[in-house]
Amino acid sequence: MDIKQISELFAPTIGARNVITGERLTLRGTGYCAASFDGGVLLTPGSAQDVSEVCRLAAEHGLAIVPQGGLTGLVQGTATALGQVALSLEKMNRILDLDPVQGVVTAEAGVTLQQVIDAAEPLGLAPGVDLPSRGSCTLGGLASTNAGGIQAIRYGMARDNILGLEAVLADGTILDLNNTLLKNNAGYDLKQLFIGSEGTLGIITKITLRLHSRPSSVQTALIGCAGTEDLFQVLASARKAFGGSLLSFEAMWPEFFIQIATHLGSSLVSPDCGIYGVIETGHWGDTEHEDALTTFLAGCFEDGLLQDGTVAQSETQRRTIWQLREDADVIESPNGPCLSYDVGLRLHDIPG
Ligand SMILES: Cc1cc2nc3c(=O)[nH]c(=O)nc-3n(C[C@H](O)[C@H](O)[C@H](O)COP(=O)(O)OP(=O)(O)OC[C@H]3O[C@@H](n4cnc5c(N)ncnc54)[C@H](O)[C@@H]3O)c2cc1C
Repeated sequence: MDIKQISELFAPTIGARNVITGERLTLRGTGYCAASFDGGVLLTPGSAQDVSEVCRLAAEHGLAIVPQGGLTGLVQGTATALGQVALSLEKMNRILDLDPVQGVVTAEAGVTLQQVIDAAEPLGLAPGVDLPSRGSCTLGGLASTNAGGIQAIRYGMARDNILGLEAVLADGTILDLNNTLLKNNAGYDLKQLFIGSEGTLGIITKITLRLHSRPSSVQTALIGCAGTEDLFQVLASARKAFGGSLLSFEAMWPEFFIQIATHLGSSLVSPDCGIYGVIETGHWGDTEHEDALTTFLAGCFEDGLLQDGTVAQSETQRRTIWQLREDADVIESPNGPCLSYDVGLRLHDIPG
């Protein structure tokens, strides 16, 4: 089928304005995947029922569908080719229910992570998954990539935070796996199949996410060590010292760190360290332990584990520390095309 035929196939079901082709499509940003719209057709259905109808029609005509969220995925998962149809969840962007007592939020799959953060914050809650792409990435994208992010050490991956979901299968069946209970041991946990499956098993249309109590304050430090061995020792000690209050522990190698620190004009720590780290701890309730991170790092200095380190003294300084970790784009873009990939390794294998 050509682009015109494909458009005519779906327009009666979801409305012509929700079938985007031609100039309307080329005006759109393709996100982190240049081939997002190479298929020439983008559908923007507004409900799970619409998605179901689209899937049923596509299956009947042998057309492949590529679901798209915020297009922040770095591994070309949203690419389409001629004869394939892109389907964006952008119109399914409503938070449906937020229960502060149970600590769960149910939302359509096109809701961005930032929307959830903003809705939860006034209630003293926060999602456990947090990523630098929070402003654009969607709950559907988080689920289908089983995203990790900067608090995975504390709250786990998306898989550990999703209580339930709704998904549409290729034949149009709407599968309701939208459990909202934390304690649920009833049978197979089918939703886990969809988490991390990158849209290959179905299109996620709704998600129920756990929310956690937001710390009343956080402490953030940037540290520099001679090498991975010392950094791992700091990690082991931090786990012991802070337990569940350790929210983040991120490592950055000098090849990355020096470039980004130079770009941002930041001289918070010495440029001569062997490896860098960001540590963030949270504190709930009273403020008694607010300087615990400073005390902990002083001990690490005494033990010879740190070459340099600084604890953020203001929200601005905290943001700068996180910018050093998160703003990889600013050094990638000027260096030309970049192949992005994540590699998971056991700590012991990292030095090699
Ligand atoms: C600056 C930056 C930092 C990042 N940091 C992290 C990080 O720390 N950890 C991490 O894990 N990732 C990270 N990412 C990668 C990316 O943000 C995540 O993978 C995110 O979860 C993708 O969400 P999205 O809505 O943009 O999905 P998209 O990019 O639109 O899609 C990603 C994949 O999910 C599929 N998909 C999207 N929506 C659905 C749906 N509703 N149903 C079924 N399949 C769907 C797509 O087909 C595609 O295969 C980062 C990206 C950027 C740009």
